[in-house]
Amino acid sequence: MDSIEVAGLQFVKFIDQKQISLIVDRLAEDIKKQYYNSRPIVVIILKGSIHFASQLLLESELDAELVFIKISSYDGLNSTGKINIELDITQSIENRDVLIIEDIVDTGTTLYQYKMTLVDRRPKSVKICTLLMKPSKLQYPLEVSFCGLEIADKFVIGYGLDYNEQGRNLADIYQLKEE
Ligand code: 5GP
Repeated sequence: MDSIEVAGLQFVKFIDQKQISLIVDRLAEDIKKQYYNSRPIVVIILKGSIHFASQLLLESELDAELVFIKISSYDGLNSTGKINIELDITQSIENRDVLIIEDIVDTGTTLYQYKMTLVDRRPKSVKICTLLMKPSKLQYPLEVSFCGLEIADKFVIGYGLDYNEQGRNLADIYQLKEE
């Protein structure tokens, strides 16, 4: 379906499964090269990154330790500007390579603030891999080492991304329809 209704809003298909797979294949190659002689701690941000992280890690066959965290800064369609860490890493990351996997970077608030809390714990490196990014919205000097696709400033759902907890399990990514 090219057009769907989710929680009362209209969305149109934007990135289909095939395109997503191509993007993930490329990122998997890049990550494999980056960590060929390391065993990174991979930090997966719940819930939006789950399909992306799962496909990416299977593709890359990365020898990694997986950690799940839960942080949020979004309420409905908008960023609140503050992060709320609901679930965090409990083990030591000192001297370890850390790779954060995120679904989408918008203002950068979530990852900029969260990355700071990791840097304080003296890891060897902290890198970010995101499926999508909205460069026109970025408000922080956030270095993103691996980015799947840069998109315009429009709200998207599907492939893990939700609108008020709906639409996460759509296999394609949809964009909010212009009025
Ligand atoms: P930031 O802190 O960079 O402004 O926002 C990042 C978080 O906001 C993402 O992890 C995601 O949860 C949410 N977010 C930002 N843009 C979108 C979007 O277009 N669609 C959805 N579903 N979530 C978004």
